[in-house]
Amino acid sequence: MPALQSLLALEDWKFDITVEHIGPEEGEDRQSVLMGSCVAQANYHTAAITINPEQCGSPKDVVDILRHEMIHVFHSDHDIMRGQLRHVVDEKMFKMFEEVYYHAAEKTVCRIEAMLNRGLGVTAKKMMEAKRDDGNKQK
Ligand SMILES: [Zn+2]
Repeated sequence: MPALQSLLALEDWKFDITVEHIGPEEGEDRQSVLMGSCVAQANYHTAAITINPEQCGSPKDVVDILRHEMIHVFHSDHDIMRGQLRHVVDEKMFKMFEEVYYHAAEKTVCRIEAMLNRGLGVTAKKMMEAKRDDGNKQK
């Protein structure tokens, strides 16, 4: 894990990773089941990442999802504003803001993933090799 954090320049963050089913909650209109989720606390540089095992067909899928969720930390400073906004706007306005925020966040993460895959070569395969190197160093 430290190598993965280093590749993404997130050495100063603490990650708590859980593997469990993530389904749409009652009342959510999300059509598909999430592959993973990331709840980051920018003030404390901590993030809770959940990976949905039902969306993982291979170890590469796990690392792809982990990388995706770790990249969400890059925009976590905006979550502070998001949390404060909830207290000053009505529910309808907040729901609209959430839709825009969610879309922008996912689009940004996908663009960063594409950049890493194409430009810098930080692929899931390379991250898996780095993880193996971590394991060997700890022995
Ligand atoms: Zn995402």
